[in-house]
Amino acid sequence: MIIPDSVLETLLKALPQVRPQIYFKSSLTALSHAMEDQVLAGNDHPLVIASFQRERFYRQEAHRYLRISDRTDQVYVLAAPETDFTNRSEHYETIAFEPGDGLSEEWHLVVMGEQYASCLICRERDLSSETQSAPPLHVDQARRFEGIWTFDRTIVLKSAEILLNRILQYRPELRTKIAPMLAQIATGPIAAINQVDPAPFADRLVTYLQAGQYKLAKAYRSIAEKERKERLVNSITAAVRRSLDPHEILNVAAEELGKVLGAGRCLIYRCTSNDSSAILQHEYLLNPVPSLSGRTWTLQGNPLFEEVVQRQEAVFIQDTQTDARFSMIKDGDRTLKSLTEEWDIRSWLMVPVLHQNQLLGAVELHYCGTTPHVLEHDEVEMVEAIATQVGVALIQAESFANLEDLNQQLEALDRTRSNLIAITGHELRTPLSTIQVCLESLASEPDMSQDLRQVMLNSALADGERMRKLIQDFLTLSRLESGRVEWRIEPQPLWECVELALSSLQARRMSTALPQIVTQLSTELPLVQVDGEWLVEVLTKLLDNACKFTEAQGRVTIQAERNEGAMIEVTIADTGRGIEENRLETVFDRFYQEEGALRRTTGGTGLGLAICRQIITNWGGRIWAESNGKDHGSEFHFTIPIVPSGETKRSAATRRRRTTG
Ligand code: ADP
Repeated sequence: MIIPDSVLETLLKALPQVRPQIYFKSSLTALSHAMEDQVLAGNDHPLVIASFQRERFYRQEAHRYLRISDRTDQVYVLAAPETDFTNRSEHYETIAFEPGDGLSEEWHLVVMGEQYASCLICRERDLSSETQSAPPLHVDQARRFEGIWTFDRTIVLKSAEILLNRILQYRPELRTKIAPMLAQIATGPIAAINQVDPAPFADRLVTYLQAGQYKLAKAYRSIAEKERKERLVNSITAAVRRSLDPHEILNVAAEELGKVLGAGRCLIYRCTSNDSSAILQHEYLLNPVPSLSGRTWTLQGNPLFEEVVQRQEAVFIQDTQTDARFSMIKDGDRTLKSLTEEWDIRSWLMVPVLHQNQLLGAVELHYCGTTPHVLEHDEVEMVEAIATQVGVALIQAESFANLEDLNQQLEALDRTRSNLIAITGHELRTPLSTIQVCLESLASEPDMSQDLRQVMLNSALADGERMRKLIQDFLTLSRLESGRVEWRIEPQPLWECVELALSSLQARRMSTALPQIVTQLSTELPLVQVDGEWLVEVLTKLLDNACKFTEAQGRVTIQAERNEGAMIEVTIADTGRGIEENRLETVFDRFYQEEGALRRTTGGTGLGLAICRQIITNWGGRIWAESNGKDHGSEFHFTIPIVPSGETKRSAATRRRRTTG
């Protein structure tokens, strides 16, 4: 049964002269406790009716009602059930009303004895409409009620009558118990004035009010503390997010956390779950705690770190001197115990810095001194919140750094592309204009001698061939630079590649006299781990250059030996015109030719060495030039990887010495 009517409204209708007022919950608690105490302290047998909004409020007072029921058999307790509150007649009458009942918004206490009478009839104010602009203050003590509290016996009688009639509606079977009470009320005030000394009541009231005030002050203190911490988390978060420099992020977080949580030392460092140690760089210190900055901090074997990695959450050891984790460490391995002693760590908090379940680092708070430190749950939560922010910021900073790298690479590529277009344009225009001049002359001068015609035609053909090579080399270099080459890396005998390169060279330069070519390759050489076709390309280009820049009387030597690492160093040396020291690196630039664009006699493209460098570095090798200067010959060296496990048999067929030319 739901009775929506308000007891307060019914009372105010019956007694229109009564003016309600506003009470805070804390005042009503104090008043009702003082009223209940009056019953407990007196020798009257009063009627006591208490209506609680919900069962949970009644539960807090249930023990008092048990004691009150020793004084009088007229006790009625009403509440909306939440667990097992039902209609019952035991020590006193309990009356359960439904949650939607009008009583669920009201708080009533009526005490009516022979010597004293008082009542409290109130309804809770719904504050939601008043607090629309400002967020509601979630403090129980701030709840407000509107109603009456009085010693006035007429009002007490009326209130008792309304409530008793209401109880009869919920529990009609109580009529025989309630009817005499109602009859008594109908006969008018039992006594005109209160016959008790009001001083004890006032004293108790003040005591309860003080207690309420104390509770309120405590609640505000805890709110203020929470707010202070929240502000701290926000300020650290803001500082951490403002920066994209991981060092600054970790420094700020360590400093602020250490200060606010009153730690002796706060460390923040980066590590992964597999790291055996970390270098400490970010530290907050409270004097005179010794600094750990710059030291290597052991992680493996530290039970605290292992637990943090395993549980992926904060671990706090309040007293390192008595904690089981530390005492478990055997005598033989005293590292951790000595660590806590050496660095004066009495209480130790370790919090993981995680991002998507990956450990990025850790935050440590050390409390030093002779007494263990107590760390509240919300303080640990705060460190965890900041560790989360640190994780996010670190990832952000890293992504930003990667992005910057990528941008720089893109810019470099773009510059290269523009340079290439400019240079290639120039390089192509030169032969093209020669071809054009030759063909125009041939077309416009029909009387030209046969010999001159032949010269013109030969020039146009030679420059046409140069353009073809230039375009071919340019395309090869572009493919290599943009990573569009599909490598077929497999074990190769070096001598085979050298032979192929030599036959290609001889086919190309059939018409020219070549210098003597000497091959010195040991039979013991291991197989090389490269793409054979591209290695032949490198060898051909280097041999071609060596022959190009060496007189026919000179000599070109091919040598190879294994260096200290897992690489073979190949050397192609010649006795030709040599390279000046300041040009040894420049020769690898695109389009570098000593003769310059106008005096090209050797027919190269200026891209050969740039192509060789791209190929060799792609395999993890190195290529460089050496020379004793002009006319003292040149040496081109490059390194290539060998097959990891000694698969060297096939190379036994290598010829020791081979002479061509
Ligand atoms: P090119 O097609 O002009 O030979 P490369 O890139 O192969 O282009 O070589 C660039 C330049 O390096 C050559 O033009 C030449 O000046 C110099 N060079 C290369 N190899 C040798 C060598 N063996 N002796 C002297 N100079 C060389």
